[in-house]
Amino acid sequence: MIKFQSLARNVEIGANSYLLTVGESRILLDAGMHPKQEGKNALPEMESIDYDSIDAAILSHAHLDHSGALPVLQRSQPDMPVFMSAPTKVLTEALLHNSVNVMNYKREQTENTDYPLFTHREIGKVSKKWHSPRQNESFNIGRSGKTNCSFYEAGHVLGAVAPVIRSEGRNILYSGDVHFEDQTIIKGATLPQSGIDVLILESTRGGVARPPDYSRQSEARKLASSIEECLSARGSVMMPLFAMGKTQEMITLLHEQQNKGNLRNIPFHVGGLSIKMTGIYDRFTSRVRRNHKGMHMMRTKGLLTTPGKRGELPILNGGNIYALSSGMMSERTMSNRLGRHFIQNPRNLLVAVGYADPESPMARILNSMHGENIQIDSRHDPVERNCSMKTFDFSGHAPRESLIEYVEKLKPEITILVHGDQPAVEWMHKELNARVPETEVIIATPGQEIQVG
Ligand SMILES: [Zn+2]
Ligand SMILES: [Zn+2]
Repeated sequence: MIKFQSLARNVEIGANSYLLTVGESRILLDAGMHPKQEGKNALPEMESIDYDSIDAAILSHAHLDHSGALPVLQRSQPDMPVFMSAPTKVLTEALLHNSVNVMNYKREQTENTDYPLFTHREIGKVSKKWHSPRQNESFNIGRSGKTNCSFYEAGHVLGAVAPVIRSEGRNILYSGDVHFEDQTIIKGATLPQSGIDVLILESTRGGVARPPDYSRQSEARKLASSIEECLSARGSVMMPLFAMGKTQEMITLLHEQQNKGNLRNIPFHVGGLSIKMTGIYDRFTSRVRRNHKGMHMMRTKGLLTTPGKRGELPILNGGNIYALSSGMMSERTMSNRLGRHFIQNPRNLLVAVGYADPESPMARILNSMHGENIQIDSRHDPVERNCSMKTFDFSGHAPRESLIEYVEKLKPEITILVHGDQPAVEWMHKELNARVPETEVIIATPGQEIQVG
């Protein structure tokens, strides 16, 4: 018997967390924190989970929408082991500590007494239950001894895995966040091509078609020439980037363009949390399957300049490339602090390469008219946006066409759609029904336990 329950509060990409019951084993897949909600509303719906009732948890990767609530969930499951890849363990620990700093700041600012939802000390305590199985090794999960699991590479970011859970002759695959194509650093997923009964599949890009003539290489060339154009006119370029994953991919992608002669050899300014995350990517550079194996971004001469003191802003001059977090230019981050001055200069170019929530300062800038006043920091007056802007697609998620092709090949009995907004999961549902009639497609309704086998 297999049962599945989404602990997310809505059909969306938010606090991703799922409860899977296989025979006698209860397994938690991911424990994310909602990036937009505040206080306890940002946590998955876990009131219905009894104390000490879950056998094991699996973390697919370190992004906070999959890992951010883990210490809170572990509080009510003190004996629960948590399995994740070795890089995910290091990345998650660093991201959770940073999350405590952000929550402490929010408590000061908003007097929301929910914050912090956990402390630095608690991370130290719960991380003792985190285990990293050896690569390609199947391991036992659950108290019955009849359930085991193995990790497959999911593409996406460093350390991302897609677990396959095997019990009573049934195989369940959870994709986590997945990308089948090679990125600049991270190689494409190596998911099983057969033998899966139940597939739990992400649907991030289900709402948008990718242009048929898209190629990552030509997109990279277009980006390099846009940057060159701006620098030649004595402007500067800023790319607000997520500290973990996107920053390292973009730095390496631009480094490749420099080596090809498409972009001048100047260092990129990075800062804050991105430095820490880039250091972790470097630590694993020879230990994982990746492109540019052995490359140390922090040690490559002339590649990066980092501010001397923690939190210090780089100096805003013409002719520079700033690769700063956060990706959505959230308040109190480097991209926001520098961005307020940056966007006023008509010579400058703001480059968008990732997702920006419609409410975020980044989206407010992207949706603005030239010369419009925009408030990107609530503590300061609005500023005029005079810089130009360009958007490029370097997603770490599979385009919807690849997701459908994968299900077509795998033909699982049941496909459960998760990690997508309503229009995205609905498009996937319709398309799969038409193209893969062998699979029963289910949109995971939050809170509802469904029997899937
Ligand atoms: Zn992710
Ligand atoms: Zn995600």
